[in-house]
Amino acid sequence: MAKRKIIMLVSDGLGDRPSARLEHKTPLQAASTPNLDELSVSSSLGLVYPIAPGVTPGSDTSHLALFGLDPYIYYRGRGPFEALGADMDLGPGDLAFRGNFATVDDNFMVLDRRAGRELPEAPDLVSYLNERLKIQGVRVALRHTTEHRFALVIREAGREAEVTDTDPHVTGERILPCKPKNASPESARMAAVVNSITAEAHTLLESHPLNEKRKKDGRQKANAILLRGGGTLSELPGVPVRYSLSAACISGTAVIRGICKALQIETPRVAGVTGDSKTDIKAKARAVIRALDEKDFVFVHFKATDAAGHDKNPELKVTMVEKLDQLVGEIMNGLKGNEVFAVTADHSTPVDLGEHSADPVPLLISAPDVFADGGRFTESAAAFGHIGRLRGLDLMGVLLNQANRVEKFGE
Ligand code: ZN
Ligand code: ZN
Repeated sequence: MAKRKIIMLVSDGLGDRPSARLEHKTPLQAASTPNLDELSVSSSLGLVYPIAPGVTPGSDTSHLALFGLDPYIYYRGRGPFEALGADMDLGPGDLAFRGNFATVDDNFMVLDRRAGRELPEAPDLVSYLNERLKIQGVRVALRHTTEHRFALVIREAGREAEVTDTDPHVTGERILPCKPKNASPESARMAAVVNSITAEAHTLLESHPLNEKRKKDGRQKANAILLRGGGTLSELPGVPVRYSLSAACISGTAVIRGICKALQIETPRVAGVTGDSKTDIKAKARAVIRALDEKDFVFVHFKATDAAGHDKNPELKVTMVEKLDQLVGEIMNGLKGNEVFAVTADHSTPVDLGEHSADPVPLLISAPDVFADGGRFTESAAAFGHIGRLRGLDLMGVLLNQANRVEKFGE
């Protein structure tokens, strides 16, 4: 039988729990989703534990699992993916972090983890640090990503280098001293380097003219950097070789773009695809259909459902589910009808929790010859679907089978 093409659409943090603020419905149940409803009627449904029951996934570990890579083997921190997503090159021993500009007092007590959040000066401050931040014996590079955030890479740190965060993750606490996470000499050396970077960055930023101006204007100084998610890139098997598929990713979210790059999935930049609630749905769908002309496997990521969950805003999440539905509709319009189209999530971000949870997420698979479950695409309908319950690691295999792309094991 002919091999089919595969579209995997992941709506970040889509899953939820019944909320009293939505008359005990989930956002998926409360939203008006005509396109998902139409797709769902002829699809198989199921539930996915992205990593395992009782494990609350991060977006990074979950996406590795959804691409079929065990995060317990391959995950070494989010930093490398952020750096790749910011279009930085990454060598095997480069140690990469996610970073924030923050406001601290003279004792390195964190007053604001986001330096007032509004930080239009961030790209200039990053350039300044790139020029001036000199730590003996190492090369350090930064690249601005979004708002007050950046990626920071220490070149040739060593493959064994593993160190802790300096970000205390809360205000009112001091910047944490960086410590080695293992006994390797690289880790000990890098912990010291990171502590020097923290001190030196504070000195440089404290007296920067842009910060003097911010202070005069009554705004918080961006006078410190907080680092987290430090790690080196492990050797990851590429998706194209592993599954004999040509592959593309359509996403505006740095960490997801970075993961896809690390897995050798082509990751074009698409104008208007921003990775937030303002993303251009039509541009995104067009990019998907274009990619599908050339590729066997197209991965699409929709971020805004997760952000609404973190904001504990049920109405916003309903609106974002409806935006996801528009994206699904636009993609459906461009399909030929013989593809495998899967819609799922990387984890739940329940609006009453405001954080990721370990709940399983709904999965829909549409293809010409699936067992159709009928009904809507919701968490509760998915619990009774033909697919049953999967772990994230199994999803690629299930999709490949539906696409007639799995080779026989044995004679
Ligand atoms: Zn996520
Ligand atoms: Zn999240």
